[in-house]
Amino acid sequence: MTRFDEFLQANAAFATSFVHGDLPMPPARKVAVVACMDARLHPEKVLGIEIGDAHVIRNAGGRAQDALRSLVISQQLLGTKEIVVLHHTDCGMLTFTNEQLAAKVASNLGVNIEGQDFLPFNDLEQSVRDDVAFLRNSPLIPKDVPISGAIYDVRTGKVHEVVRA
Ligand code: ZN
Repeated sequence: MTRFDEFLQANAAFATSFVHGDLPMPPARKVAVVACMDARLHPEKVLGIEIGDAHVIRNAGGRAQDALRSLVISQQLLGTKEIVVLHHTDCGMLTFTNEQLAAKVASNLGVNIEGQDFLPFNDLEQSVRDDVAFLRNSPLIPKDVPISGAIYDVRTGKVHEVVRA
């Protein structure tokens, strides 16, 4: 049995009590959250987001540059008007450099990715500030959109605010 088989079983149970089939496409709370893909971080649970409430855009590190394409679609086509960037403690992005990852990829896959930026960071708070600043300075994000940055603590479950722009 694969994980996919397990997921299909779980979904069958989920769908028996499903009652959200009539929700509109635009998020009800008009907000997009950019969060890390870390398995310990469930943005919806952590932030009290229900089905239909928000766009949750996830990638390694919750990096804004990586999420920009989705944010433009979220805002221009689906009406979101606020952004929250959510990074977290003990993030995998704190554990490697571009050079180390390039060496691993070269060794494992025989592919040269030297010079490619996988957006790792060595200062967690600064990574949040950098991502909020990146979005604030992007011509693709309207100036009246509130942008906040925060850190989720994987040990306590608490979110603490880092910056608002
Ligand atoms: Zn992470």
